[in-house]
Amino acid sequence: MSANTQQVVGPNKVVAVYFTLKNDAGEVVETNRRGGKPLIYLHGVKAILPGLEQSLEGKKKDEQFSVTIPPALAWGDHRPEHVEKVLRSTLPADMSLQVGMLLRGTDPNGRPVAATIVKIEGEDVTLDRNHPLAGKTLHYDVIVAGIRDATREEAMHGHVHGPGDAHH
Ligand code: ZN
Repeated sequence: MSANTQQVVGPNKVVAVYFTLKNDAGEVVETNRRGGKPLIYLHGVKAILPGLEQSLEGKKKDEQFSVTIPPALAWGDHRPEHVEKVLRSTLPADMSLQVGMLLRGTDPNGRPVAATIVKIEGEDVTLDRNHPLAGKTLHYDVIVAGIRDATREEAMHGHVHGPGDAHH
């Protein structure tokens, strides 16, 4: 490989990106660009949203681009069956509930679950267990901050190892 061969985003590359995520209204939902750390991920193993990963394929360091990602390539459709009414008494009594509040807990199998309160009517609380971005079209502004080859171990494990990570 010649010295001036530029790294390109593809399988077995560890990629660092800065991004700003906006919704259809143009409001910033999430960003790591204001003094944040770059998102560092292993490309090609679905570590990030499929639409975002596809858009990064073939990009070079310092490349900057915008991409619009439909729900199917992001958090999926909003599923009405994941919206349910529960009794206020089934939720922690010391919690002051508000519409829009995100509740986090674990299901009976110990897996983390999250639900957004969408309505409170007397004793009835309506919870939406969809991901908050389900059904949403996402607009990303992306900068490729760095690209390197994954180590053999990272490629085998399917994830990035940080500096000083213990072997596992
Ligand atoms: Zn590992």
